[in-house]
Amino acid sequence: MPITIALAGNPNSGKTTIFNDLTDSRQFVGNWPGVTVEKKDGRLKTDKNVTIQDLPGIYSLTAYSPEETITRRYLINEKPDAVINVVDASNLERGLYLTTQVLETGLPVVVALNMTDVARKRGNRIDKKKLSAIFGCGFIETSAVRGEGMDEIAAAAEKLAGSRPIPKRIFSGEIENAVSRLSEIVMGRVPPGTGRWHAIKLIEGDAPVLGRADLGESAAAWLTGFRRRLEETRGDTAESVIISERYAFIERAVKEAAVRPNAGRVTESDKIDAIVTNRLLALPIFAAVMFLVYYISIGTIGGFLTEWVGGTLFGGLIPAWAAGLLKSMNVAPWLISLIVDGIIAGVGGVLGFLPQMAILFACLAAMEDCGYMARIAFIMDRAFRKIGLSGKSFIPILIGTGCGVPGIMASRAIESEPERRLTVITTTFIPCGAKLPVISLIASALFGGAAWVAASAYFLGMAAIIVSGLILRRAPVFAGDSAAFVMELPAYHTPRLSNVLRRMWDRTRAFAAKAGTVILLASVVIWFLSGFDTRLRVTGDAGASILAAIGGAVAPVFAPLGWGDWRPVTASISGLIAKENAVGTLGVLFGFTGEGGWETLRSSFTPASAYSFLIFNLLCAPCAAAMAAIAREMRSARWTAFALIYQTIFAYAAALIFYQTAVIFAK
Ligand code: GDP
Ligand code: MG
Repeated sequence: MPITIALAGNPNSGKTTIFNDLTDSRQFVGNWPGVTVEKKDGRLKTDKNVTIQDLPGIYSLTAYSPEETITRRYLINEKPDAVINVVDASNLERGLYLTTQVLETGLPVVVALNMTDVARKRGNRIDKKKLSAIFGCGFIETSAVRGEGMDEIAAAAEKLAGSRPIPKRIFSGEIENAVSRLSEIVMGRVPPGTGRWHAIKLIEGDAPVLGRADLGESAAAWLTGFRRRLEETRGDTAESVIISERYAFIERAVKEAAVRPNAGRVTESDKIDAIVTNRLLALPIFAAVMFLVYYISIGTIGGFLTEWVGGTLFGGLIPAWAAGLLKSMNVAPWLISLIVDGIIAGVGGVLGFLPQMAILFACLAAMEDCGYMARIAFIMDRAFRKIGLSGKSFIPILIGTGCGVPGIMASRAIESEPERRLTVITTTFIPCGAKLPVISLIASALFGGAAWVAASAYFLGMAAIIVSGLILRRAPVFAGDSAAFVMELPAYHTPRLSNVLRRMWDRTRAFAAKAGTVILLASVVIWFLSGFDTRLRVTGDAGASILAAIGGAVAPVFAPLGWGDWRPVTASISGLIAKENAVGTLGVLFGFTGEGGWETLRSSFTPASAYSFLIFNLLCAPCAAAMAAIAREMRSARWTAFALIYQTIFAYAAALIFYQTAVIFAK
């Protein structure tokens, strides 16, 4: 019989890690909240009849955020056959707070006490038997990263499937009596087994449940009376009374079942955090770290490898070898040109940057894995709230350093609609992996590989976000309070090599695949359009080609930015398909496979116009995939158009201001 087991728990408790282990899949594991915004399912690897459902991370079953809404709707209405409630054992109280609520749904629950490795290292001991007796459900110790307890937890959940446990009473007598009474009233009108949950929600005054409850006049009056009395006697809102009773229950349970000799002691992580998240030092340290990351990936090893792969391999060896081979096979000259000057120049121009991308991805993955990225979100929350964005907006931006598409999607975790839209608009300002070749080409070919060029691209993106926040927040449609962002900072640990390598490999492979498809196709098109004139005759002079005619028509618009030449303009336009295309296009148009490819490029730019070109390409409307993601998240043609137009105008203005200022100073 097919059964479904759901994974519910706090953000960062390890749900996705458990999900990946149980289903043998590779969903994104990240140590900041909001990563799993949609639910994802997979088949249990040991029993294909079992579907495992990964749910968004939540702290509570209220309906204050999209994650909570998704998770609670799923648990109450779709009713999985069993729930694995993942609790971070090193953060017991917070996890168990959700456990009390999951148990109220009447579903069979087994708790995975995850991160036991961390808890043990701190010297904590947890008595599972006692917890089981107190909560009325099974507790199993797991360590998802080490694969410990995985079989046990799956087996326990499978065994529970379909059973109907009776939730324990955890509140004071007064509230429990009201709960019993309300459960009877709602019985038959709510999904079977969820009476207790609905009753508690009614007492809390949960808006969606109250709205749907059709209690009848006398019951409704009684509920109102009860809530009023409760609030008067306790001097707090009914919701707060329930919250504090839950915590009181958990506190008693933890006191009885857990020994934590080192609680309150300053850990290594605390010591690091005292410096890293320090009010004054945090931002300079972050800047230094990002500079270092770009320096390592673009300047040092990455730069050296790129020089070799891009310059020697794709700039000389491969084209010469291919041309020789094709000639010896008597291949038509136009075809040789297509392959050497089109495909190899375009695709090779992009592939040349692969080593740098791989190293950048490895650095980012290491920062994520060790827990530093989570700190950055925390630090940025403070800075961002000043401009009307919260740290939650920073998470999409962090994810966007790899690729804008998942970054834009991660904006779903933001509750406030204005803030969410603002985040969707600004996420792609941050340079993603695909923009790296553009940055790196400009840095290498025009600035002698200076690391500051690359690092400045990152800070440029940040500045664009901040300035946009300040500008757009003034408009009434974007006004509103930004929610404070609560997140637990995971303990620092040495990055796991396997995690880092896997992330690096996944991302790098995706880019290589793109080079072999989209970039290849675009290079062929560019080669064709630059090799034929407007009457479709072969022309040796690219300046007389169709492409030059098209690019040339738009080029004057970009003249004030310092690069009104049809070639960079065409490159910027083709970058709208995929950002690396800008590099591929420059590769074809400036003949990177020919004699001194980068030389010709250098002679067509000044440092000021090159940097202005970079500014425009980094900030303007993103690639097609990201534009589609923006359209999906905005769910409105007008908002999508606004986003793309805003980005492009912003990019134009930034490049214009930069270039014109640079020209004045150069005089
Ligand atoms: P989710 O937000 O609940 O889906 O949590 P994830 O599965 O994304 O995990 C959050 C972070 O905790 C990741 O960095 C994991 O590698 C790490 N993690 C997960 N399980 C364990 C565990 O048992 N022990 C330790 N030390 N780390 C874990
Ligand atoms: Mg997750």
